[in-house]
Amino acid sequence: MTTPLDRLKAEVCALHAELLRWGLVAWTSGNVSGRLPGSELMVIKPSGLSYDELTPEQMIVCDLDGKVVEGELSPSSDTAAHAYVYRNRPDVGGVVHTHSPYATAWSAVGEPIPCAITAMGDEFGDDIPVGPFALIGDDSIGQGIVATLDGHRSPAVLMRQHGVFTIGKNAKAAVKAAVMCEDVARTVHLARQLGPVSRLPQQDIDRLYDRYQNVYGQAPADKAAAAQAPAAAQTSAAQAPAAPAPAQAPVTVGSEGEPA
Ligand SMILES: [Zn+2]
Repeated sequence: MTTPLDRLKAEVCALHAELLRWGLVAWTSGNVSGRLPGSELMVIKPSGLSYDELTPEQMIVCDLDGKVVEGELSPSSDTAAHAYVYRNRPDVGGVVHTHSPYATAWSAVGEPIPCAITAMGDEFGDDIPVGPFALIGDDSIGQGIVATLDGHRSPAVLMRQHGVFTIGKNAKAAVKAAVMCEDVARTVHLARQLGPVSRLPQQDIDRLYDRYQNVYGQAPADKAAAAQAPAAAQTSAAQAPAAPAPAQAPVTVGSEGEPA
């Protein structure tokens, strides 16, 4: 019988194939992690293994201090950064790190990606910010991620002269943010080659973000509830259930190591 931990290992393992599929990684230079819901555990990739060799059984289980709890191999060299994010952001269930080329190029010049196209308004609701330069090895990278994204709508941060970290309610959402981050980094870069790029007006960014986050798509339960809650509150305040909190439930996250 599979346990939630088994399922998280399988999910985190499988999501690494998405990094390859979307062209976000070279060799072993990216990682996905997931938080085991309702626990103080995370699942992360072992360090330095090729993506196409990964198996769910190889995934490493760590506590939220980054200490290995289960697994034969060494965890990703980015484990401390992932663990710091989980410790300090209870709403985060997934973390992804890549050196995807266009987004990392923006990080190399230390410039936020301006919110210049509707797709950015949708997914990021703002510019994609730049975090501080920090070397691997302690909590510095995690501190930079958390401090930069605190109070920011963007689930992605460009860590200066390093690469991209994304967060999500679960590992899959964090992978999606990493894919979208690279996509808009490329598009805005290309636009700049053609001429000046203007940020969208804030009120339009706000409308795009609200619609995409609350209405767009096939309305999974959390979105449907969020979208209907305001109407319910207006039309039948007496009977309407309390509006659900924004999706904050801990989700599984997996993190995987940096380049070996
Ligand atoms: Zn890195």
